[in-house]
Amino acid sequence: MDKLPKCDANYVPLSPLTFLERAASVYADRASVVYRNTCFTWKQTSDRCRRLASVLTSLGVSKNDVVSVIAPNVPAMYEMHFGVPMAGAVLNTINTRLDPKNVALILSHSEARVLFVDYQFVPLARDALNQLGSSQPLLVVIDDVDTPTGVRLGELEYERLLAGVDPAGFVMRRVDDEWDPIALNYTSGTTSAPKGVVYSHRGAYLSTMSLLLHWEVGREPVYLWSLPMFHCNGWTFTWGMAARGGTNVCIRTTSADEMYRAMSQHRVTHMCCAPVVFNLILEARASDRRPIGRPVHVLTGGAPPPAPLVEKMERLGFHVTHAYGLTEATGPALVCEWQTKWDGLPQTERSRLKARQGISVLTLADVDVIDPETMQGVPRDGRSVGEIALRGSGVMKGYYKDAEATSKAFRGGWLFTGDVAVVHPDGYVEIKDRSKDVIISGGENISSVEVEAVLYGHPKVGEAAVVAMPHAHWGEVPCAFVVVKGEGGVKEGEIIGYCRDNMPHYMVPKKVVFVEELAKTSTGKVQKFQLRELAKAIAKQ
Ligand code: ADP
Repeated sequence: MDKLPKCDANYVPLSPLTFLERAASVYADRASVVYRNTCFTWKQTSDRCRRLASVLTSLGVSKNDVVSVIAPNVPAMYEMHFGVPMAGAVLNTINTRLDPKNVALILSHSEARVLFVDYQFVPLARDALNQLGSSQPLLVVIDDVDTPTGVRLGELEYERLLAGVDPAGFVMRRVDDEWDPIALNYTSGTTSAPKGVVYSHRGAYLSTMSLLLHWEVGREPVYLWSLPMFHCNGWTFTWGMAARGGTNVCIRTTSADEMYRAMSQHRVTHMCCAPVVFNLILEARASDRRPIGRPVHVLTGGAPPPAPLVEKMERLGFHVTHAYGLTEATGPALVCEWQTKWDGLPQTERSRLKARQGISVLTLADVDVIDPETMQGVPRDGRSVGEIALRGSGVMKGYYKDAEATSKAFRGGWLFTGDVAVVHPDGYVEIKDRSKDVIISGGENISSVEVEAVLYGHPKVGEAAVVAMPHAHWGEVPCAFVVVKGEGGVKEGEIIGYCRDNMPHYMVPKKVVFVEELAKTSTGKVQKFQLRELAKAIAKQ
């Protein structure tokens, strides 16, 4: 058969922005975003996003400019996911747990034109801006939409700006190339410098679609925002909820009280979270608990979910799906797809199967567990270990303005993840270890190199190495091994206090172990494997 002629006139670039246009018409009167006593419909959300795009355009923002935001899961944070790209700009959501130094690094590296700051994070933004120097972004404070506080940072305020424009007059910038950037997400990898991962309209569209399919999200879900939207754009469900006409239930903090209240009040059907949130749900005080109304589908990832926790959640009425991913893969890359033949298995066995990281999502062409020595895939025997490597549409093209880190991340066309795993005979992947210097505490990545760099700033620290120590609540916490220099000792509390003053608090080592020396390899590298074993033994004591 002859090849069909290409019909360029009928080509429409893939972009999640089309989800909102459709939602505004198909789900016009359905609740799109609820937050405390405030509720918007899809028609209103679409209108507010157009206003935001119009505001940005009038502020001089143009194509490919970066617009940053520091905010919890409030309506404005949701609206940024459409309003910013509708102005042709690139959305950069910043992790609210970072310290001023890292926020300043991100603002400077991304050359942010505008910074939106939720009122709660004004002190963090102010400190970051003080470290920025002359190239300051334009500031817009986001006051609480439900209960305004009057807190300001400069002249501009989000709601006032939206109220001051006429969305009818705004002509949306069309996406003319699906490879254009839509988001810039910084990840703290294995080096101390945050690295910016660029998402394209195309990658975001495909990843959103495939996740909706894998999780079998039906029409009109009620989605609880327990996962921060700053994590890979809420694992793409920011865009996904518009695709399905869902209701976004926004909460300011992921606390047991707020989650139970929201689940019961809004009859939530879906939520995403790191496994650490399971502890909050399971160990909630009686006064915080409420009936959850109907079964809630939970997609969990970001850290390995222990099988016993999965089991407890399922007994409480949650249907757990496990996914594995990383910022570089536009969120989830593997999903532990359920097989009907497992339905009849005992609960403990089902939870054990669910705790495996799973098989590739549809947007990935390939996932393999590769032996880095031979560059061959390991046998599917559940025993041979290799590194998880990914290829396909969801995988980033590279780190923003960092060719060196990009070329290190890819080998032979594969993105090497630094996660060490086995493949079971049924093709499901299970993570066994991590070869990269990253500690995952409550789903947040901590670069051990970054913690070590701070420790070396203490006058009494001669050498320092930081590894993961198992922890019942957080999964892992940083444990520092320190060789003291000079006369007179130093106390653990002093080192911890120094760290608290010099890094985000979630990164501070929970334990400091003083040692005579750090065992090294022949090439002078600290043998972190040994230290990890030591940390495990200490955790058991
Ligand atoms: P995210 O924001 O989704 O946590 P990051 O890029 O910050 O993404 O972290 C990615 C890393 O988190 C992975 O390389 C892996 O080490 C770890 N990780 C993510 N999901 C899982 C999982 N389901 N099981 C084990 N480790 C995981």
